[in-house]
Amino acid sequence: AAKDLGKNRFMLFETRMHEQLLSRLDQENRLREAVHRGELRLHLQPVVALPDGQVSGAEALVRWQDPQRGLQQPGSFIPLAEETGMIIEIDRWILLEACRTIRAWQEESPATAPAWVSVNLSAIHLDLPDLTDHVAYALATTGLSPHCLVLELTETVMMRDLAVTSARLEELRELGVKIAIDDFGTGYSSLGYLRDIPVDVLKIDRSFINGLVGNSRQQELVSAIMQLGHTLGLRVVAEGVEDADQLTLLTVMGCKFAQGYHLGRPQPPAELRAGLTVAEPV
Ligand code: C2E
Ligand code: MG
Ligand code: MG
Ligand code: MG
Repeated sequence: AAKDLGKNRFMLFETRMHEQLLSRLDQENRLREAVHRGELRLHLQPVVALPDGQVSGAEALVRWQDPQRGLQQPGSFIPLAEETGMIIEIDRWILLEACRTIRAWQEESPATAPAWVSVNLSAIHLDLPDLTDHVAYALATTGLSPHCLVLELTETVMMRDLAVTSARLEELRELGVKIAIDDFGTGYSSLGYLRDIPVDVLKIDRSFINGLVGNSRQQELVSAIMQLGHTLGLRVVAEGVEDADQLTLLTVMGCKFAQGYHLGRPQPPAELRAGLTVAEPV
């Protein structure tokens, strides 16, 4: 009987694995179709200049309007998209949509439009020889100025072949676009890359901002990162600012750019735009 029980357990386990596999394949197929079916959505989160609090730029963040499960956050589909290579198509769609949206906004109301947009690129793109061509195409076809585009990469790209990474990033910068290191401080990579790799923006990971108030050691660390960035002539953005106390503290610490729920959630472009119009001084 014990043996049968074991066998049943195994079958149950097998059935579950089978179900998981099927559901993964199902999600994979539906994600594959999502781009063509027009189910991806561009959301924009404002990045604010300090101390004046004006919106300086915006980060493009992908969402998937899944007809079965509703609006999906990137955490639920980006890992699968990266495993399967679908991230290439997704990132390219977002890049084009972000450039188009910001360009149109700049033309229609230059006074309120973000001066720049930043787009996340999965590290996989650095293996693709046509990355620069594709970015050039997105700029040419939308008319967005290259100076208005920032490409965000995480520090993990620095753990790849540095010669290849450096060459690709240099090509991109020759177009006039800027390169940002996203989630700075979490990549466990040597700071040495800052000497050799062309970078324009550091985005301090929100884990450094969370718990900042009342923690002097953490404040020293964030100050040091900001100083390092400013000394190197980089733009430094604090990510994940969730309340007024954090914002005040960061401002006092000399932070020049901030992003976070306290300053604005990621939202559809039209909503961000409506909010900014209302906020204009009378
Ligand atoms: P990220 O690039 O570091 O983007 C910032 C994430 O932090 C966003 O999550 C944003 O909604 C969230 N966030 C912003 N302010 C706050 C805050 O005050 N508190 C907290 N707790 N979170 C905040 P989201 O949109 O879920 O995206 C998660 C990650 O997925 C992104 O992190 C990025 O790595 C990736 N991602 C998003 N869109 C794309 C894309 O189009 N392409 C690629 N390759 N990756 C993307
Ligand atoms: Mg980002
Ligand atoms: Mg980030
Ligand atoms: Mg992140």
